[in-house]
Amino acid sequence: MPIYEYRCTACGAAKEHLQKMSDDPIAQCPACGSADYHKQLSAAGFQLKGSGWYETDFKNSSSGGGGHSCGNGSCGGGCA
Ligand SMILES: [Zn+2]
Repeated sequence: MPIYEYRCTACGAAKEHLQKMSDDPIAQCPACGSADYHKQLSAAGFQLKGSGWYETDFKNSSSGGGGHSCGNGSCGGGCA
């Protein structure tokens, strides 16, 4: 079940909600009751999926080329 991060643009409250894909998005801030409560795309589930894909892509594109933690080799090795 994915975790979604929500942020309230009215009071700045941020909270993670465990929701099913089929659940309706939460539209009201639990802190202040404002309707300016929106799902963030930087939720933990998306970050995990993103980094995994990135790592795989890096290995494919540069086999045998060091372990750059920056992910693209443009650091010249300084990031390792
Ligand atoms: Zn709020």
